[in-house]
Amino acid sequence: MIRENSDMILSVRNLTAEVDGTEILKGVNLEVRAGEIHAIMGLNGSGKSTFSKVLSGHPDYAVTGGEVSYLGQDVLALEPEDRARSGIFLAFQYPLEIPGVSNLDFLRVAYNSKRKHEGQEELDAFDFDELVRDKLDVVKMDAAFLSRSVNEGFSGGEKKRNEILQMALLEPKLAILDETDSGLDIDALKIVAEGVNQLSNSDNAMLVITHYQRLLNYIVPDYVHVMANGRIIRTGGKELALALEERGYDWVLNEAAAGVAG
Ligand code: ADP
Ligand code: MG
Repeated sequence: MIRENSDMILSVRNLTAEVDGTEILKGVNLEVRAGEIHAIMGLNGSGKSTFSKVLSGHPDYAVTGGEVSYLGQDVLALEPEDRARSGIFLAFQYPLEIPGVSNLDFLRVAYNSKRKHEGQEELDAFDFDELVRDKLDVVKMDAAFLSRSVNEGFSGGEKKRNEILQMALLEPKLAILDETDSGLDIDALKIVAEGVNQLSNSDNAMLVITHYQRLLNYIVPDYVHVMANGRIIRTGGKELALALEERGYDWVLNEAAAGVAG
């Protein structure tokens, strides 16, 4: 049974999942409460992106066991679009390009879909334009990016900023950022981190997935989890990220293998 808790945003119990018949997640446990920023770190191939895709409902990933409760409801029973509308946001490690669809139209449709879900009136093009221009400041993005096709020809950093712009507009309850820092130069990294910090509040939660500690110089997590071989093998505070930076992952893997509690 999942323990109910009024400020619990996400509760994951023994989650297992496979892709193409191969088990990737092998029993993930995680609890995230309102107001918290959690970092999930781990070597490449440890299952971080798989975990984020399973949470957002990517159709290629089959859940084979466990429970995921989001705001007290069984999220695994929801379609991906209903997860999104109810406030789960995933910033992709590799944002998709959508040629022929303007960024502005894309953002407006996503935004209005969420408004509708919440029983609010949709914003017309004029009002939406005003809103989106405010949000551009969060990510220090030029308005010219609104009239271009979604992510088409955007640099790596511009794509990641565009993900944060979506997040700023949609104001998710649970934001999952999958390696939003990868491929960013330090200025873009700071902008992404500032965006995340501005959007983090006592009502929402952030799950920041990262391979490197450097993003965590700018986003200070309440908890740091290490994922390896499809499980969270250790949890600590922000000092764990610093220890990983200094000492690498081997000692954590060795201690977990030896059964040392983390
Ligand atoms: P991380 O994000 O931590 O680098 P991933 O979740 O991307 O790890 O990958 C975990 C493992 O799952 C890797 O061994 C990867 O090759 C495998 N995997 C992920 N997606 C697929 C897929 N679509 N088909 C087959 N294997 C996959
Ligand atoms: Mg990944």
